[in-house]
Amino acid sequence: MVRNLVTIAEFTDSFEAEVAKSFLEEAGFEVFLQNERFQSMYSSIAGDMYPIELQVYAEFEAEASGLLNDQGDSYLTNAILQEEGALLEGHFLLTSGNHSNRYIEKIRVLQNPQATHNLCEKLAHRLAVYDFDTVIGPAYGAIVLAFEVARILEKQFVFTQRKDEKMVFRSGFDLSNTKKAVIIEDIVSTGGSVSEVVNCARDKGIDVVAIGLLVDRSGGKLDFGLPVESLLSIEVPLWRPEECDLCKQGLHLVKPGSSDKGK
Ligand SMILES: [Zn+2]
Repeated sequence: MVRNLVTIAEFTDSFEAEVAKSFLEEAGFEVFLQNERFQSMYSSIAGDMYPIELQVYAEFEAEASGLLNDQGDSYLTNAILQEEGALLEGHFLLTSGNHSNRYIEKIRVLQNPQATHNLCEKLAHRLAVYDFDTVIGPAYGAIVLAFEVARILEKQFVFTQRKDEKMVFRSGFDLSNTKKAVIIEDIVSTGGSVSEVVNCARDKGIDVVAIGLLVDRSGGKLDFGLPVESLLSIEVPLWRPEECDLCKQGLHLVKPGSSDKGK
């Protein structure tokens, strides 16, 4: 019997292709990548002309592409965070005052512009279905993400910052052509800063149509009364300091990202 292979996804980035392949293989599919060797030899010229094709047997086309569409972004985001060394394990004091054994050091991702671009491309793809003219990000971490998403989707970019404890647009931006916006934030647990940006935009008469997140650390419990597109949704274990086992074991407590107030 001849078994036909069909292409269900194309990649210009070999890391992304490998991640998608291992994701589907873990789910039990046989997966083949075409053009991979050719692309690694001539990546600069071959990338767009001969993308890496991810293929499965035709009878599994619907099932495999459905799975990749539903969970591929989460799997890739996790893989990029892992690859960039952003998934830290230890004993951390979070800005909420709770302790955790896991922390996501987003700066490690921003340090690699290509990895950051790859994530922004996924986020941009999710947000492209909304009608908006401007991408807003709160300083500092989300500035890079909002800028890159805006660049990919050919929208305007502006950012907000805290001034005297209040979230405001950076002075100097011309907001006269900003009517509808999406807000981008990197890693969100309670959504406090995102809500501040939403209010800040509404105060200027800007209609916020959606929120885009790199990582939703609440495990999908956030509610802004707006559509939320997050690349990865995870629930990070949290303990109140008095109930923390790591404290009882006497493990040194680390306070990472101490400049990120109000997350
Ligand atoms: Zn502790």
